[in-house]
Amino acid sequence: MERIVVVGAGLAGGRVCQELRAAGYTEALTLVGSENHLPYDRPPLSKAVLAGRTDDTTLPLDLGGVELLLGRRASGLRPGVVETDGGPLDFDGLVIATGADPVRLPGDGPQRVLRTIDDARALRDVLRPGLRLAVVGAGWIGAEVATSAAAAGAQVTVVEAAATPLAQALGEDVGSHLIDWYARAGVTLRLGTSVDAVRPDGLDLAGGDHVVADEVVVGVGVRPSTGWLAGSGLEIDRGVVVDEHLAATWPVPVVCVGDSAAWWSRRYATRLRVEHWDCAQQSPAVAAAALLGADAVYDPVPYFWSEQFGRMVQFAGLRPAGATPVWRGDPTQPKGWSAGWFDGDDRLAAVLAVGRPADVVRGRRLMAAGGTVDPDRFADLATPLA
Ligand SMILES: Cc1cc2nc3c(=O)[nH]c(=O)nc-3n(C[C@H](O)[C@H](O)[C@H](O)COP(=O)(O)OP(=O)(O)OC[C@H]3O[C@@H](n4cnc5c(N)ncnc54)[C@H](O)[C@@H]3O)c2cc1C
Repeated sequence: MERIVVVGAGLAGGRVCQELRAAGYTEALTLVGSENHLPYDRPPLSKAVLAGRTDDTTLPLDLGGVELLLGRRASGLRPGVVETDGGPLDFDGLVIATGADPVRLPGDGPQRVLRTIDDARALRDVLRPGLRLAVVGAGWIGAEVATSAAAAGAQVTVVEAAATPLAQALGEDVGSHLIDWYARAGVTLRLGTSVDAVRPDGLDLAGGDHVVADEVVVGVGVRPSTGWLAGSGLEIDRGVVVDEHLAATWPVPVVCVGDSAAWWSRRYATRLRVEHWDCAQQSPAVAAAALLGADAVYDPVPYFWSEQFGRMVQFAGLRPAGATPVWRGDPTQPKGWSAGWFDGDDRLAAVLAVGRPADVVRGRRLMAAGGTVDPDRFADLATPLA
């Protein structure tokens, strides 16, 4: 291979350049990114950046010898050529690392999203005591924005369509224990409430109610950034469809990493797309190997963390639909607790840990090994998961 082009200069794109070099690839390597920034880390945007503790999250990657085309957007793809707004780029190996774009809501009012460092700096600059801030979505991003905004003295209202925060990710059993976190932080939480439209003075709610706000932040999820691949012949199904090596079926070698990849998981015998840092960090090593002809497989137990209302929240695994959680510790108490989900044969399928990092680390190891755990012993805090 003499010219590899990586499209998308986020964590996954930057890391894949590093991994290609580490794997011995010395030929031409081009990294194309639509943002005018070197690859940077996004998790701190809704935490340390909003809180004013840092302003720069550039990743410590060695991109020496990589041709950087920043502020340049890919607009189309055909075998051997990426079309960009600065002209075509030839390649004989391609990495797709275009991540995901936030979903926006209808309406004629201004709405902020939080995806880029520019979004984060702009939001931080308007946070002030007394600001009436409406946040749509009590998911991961909504909770983190509410945390920082409340700490800055803003009057925060979070509007959530589901019956509890994080109902889709964690289920209502767990979500019901998070409701109190909002109240304790002085945040108004309106559950079971859908937003019809964003207006210049706030939110129109389904049913005719209105939330007055000076600023609106929408945190209702993301969609993979794959629009530029339309007509390329690549299979797109909520992400770029790739196999367990992260390779697509196409006339020229193509791999996909990070938030935009919908890969085949051998472990779960299903296609997964995971919009979490760990995937963007770890999948590039496998994709680089696959592009260079080695036989690596990407098959993690998914992992994610969030920091909300002063708590460290970590999750690993895949929650089986309909399973009820087994508590490890008391979720009504402020001290740490965990929840575990099991599938048949006492196999641990997922762990949520609030302020108990060891549970998630050890639980993830157990899941990776396919180990069985007696749910009664899981529930016993005196029994270490190790
Ligand atoms: C505010 C925030 C907080 C988060 N917090 C956490 C957390 O606490 N824990 C956790 O596990 N995960 C967290 N995440 C998720 C994590 O950051 C993402 O999973 C990760 O950034 C994905 O990396 P990526 O490189 O795949 O995509 P991205 O980081 O989205 O990078 C993709 C890049 O490609 C560029 N691009 C898109 N289309 C084109 C195109 N056509 N041409 C050229 N360039 C293009 C984009 O501009 C972007 O720079 C958070 C995300 C956000 C936004």
